[in-house]
Amino acid sequence: MDVLRSDWLTTGPKVEEFEAAFADFIGVAHAVAVSNGTAALHAAVYALGIGPGDEVIVTPMTFAASANCVLYQGATPVFADVDPDTLLIDPASVEAKITSRTKAIIAVDYAGQPCDYDTLRSIAERHSLALIDDACHAVGGSYKERAVGTLADLNTFSLHPVKHFTTGEGGLITTNDAELARRMRVFRNHGITTDHRQRAERGGFFYEMVDLGYNYRITDFQCALGISQLKKLRESVRRRRELAALYDAALSDIDYVTPLAIRPEVVQAYHLYIVRFDTERLGMDRNDIFAALRAENIGVNVHYIPVHFHPYYRQNLGTTEGLCPVAEAAYQQIITLPMFPQMSDEDVADVITAIRKLST
Ligand SMILES: *Cc1c(COP(=O)(O)O)cnc(C)c1O
Repeated sequence: MDVLRSDWLTTGPKVEEFEAAFADFIGVAHAVAVSNGTAALHAAVYALGIGPGDEVIVTPMTFAASANCVLYQGATPVFADVDPDTLLIDPASVEAKITSRTKAIIAVDYAGQPCDYDTLRSIAERHSLALIDDACHAVGGSYKERAVGTLADLNTFSLHPVKHFTTGEGGLITTNDAELARRMRVFRNHGITTDHRQRAERGGFFYEMVDLGYNYRITDFQCALGISQLKKLRESVRRRRELAALYDAALSDIDYVTPLAIRPEVVQAYHLYIVRFDTERLGMDRNDIFAALRAENIGVNVHYIPVHFHPYYRQNLGTTEGLCPVAEAAYQQIITLPMFPQMSDEDVADVITAIRKLST
């Protein structure tokens, strides 16, 4: 309400306050707030100077925006396959896809589990590549006691309502590199070097547009919401982890369901709880299982249709089946079970009952 009554509805002091609060929460030097998670990814790819002729290695097991951001800059996304147990980008496949044109790797902390950053970092260093973490699923998680948001050169977050904390629409990028942060702040404001408030403070009219940017600004009232949402984030992750432990225990004696493997060096933030069904043993395919669970009123989903399967990618990049066999095989078996902090222990039991019913 204070923001709505104030002089600044957008580009005002709450933006900086929210950025500082998030940077402090993560333990990183800079946070840049933008209008959504896709804008965050676009700003990251832009800040690295990636453009036509460049290649960026991406995972197919993600939301399309993780790869689309490369196309926005006129560069080419190259799909690496995933690890069969975690469905996280497989460093060996990344290495195999590197060419003289490769400029960066975009890792996605799929479901909320941080990728294998020590290995990805060493590959990036060896080949002079930048590393982006699309951390939209993993805020509040960590890898070897290092917080998500500090693991790559640029780390992107979404504040969409389905994510861990929300501003309605919104996004953030974290980095320890002051120059990258500066470039992203210019980029989110049309490529103009000063914003309205800076000019108001100086009492001048002059500004210069130094590059082709976008309007990717976030409003002050969204940032006020973000500041209050941030206070609930740790509790939300704690409850998600508790629910995951309940699922793990209950599923351990059902032989046709396997949760995704979690590596011991991570704290998984559980944006999603994903399981693999042994469709052969059960004698049902993924679509049958999905329909049967929905019929029991269980809000299951599928994350994701491999990005390279989408018609746009097939038509414009010529991607076909067989490009990432591990991700493609997983897609035929994965189901996302309900996971949200308000879920009760009894809700978990209901999901398990519906899963047991599949084999009867
Ligand atoms: C949600 C999400 C995005 C896009 O975020 P928006 O705020 O919806 O633009 C990108 N990548 C991943 C992995 C996501 O889950």
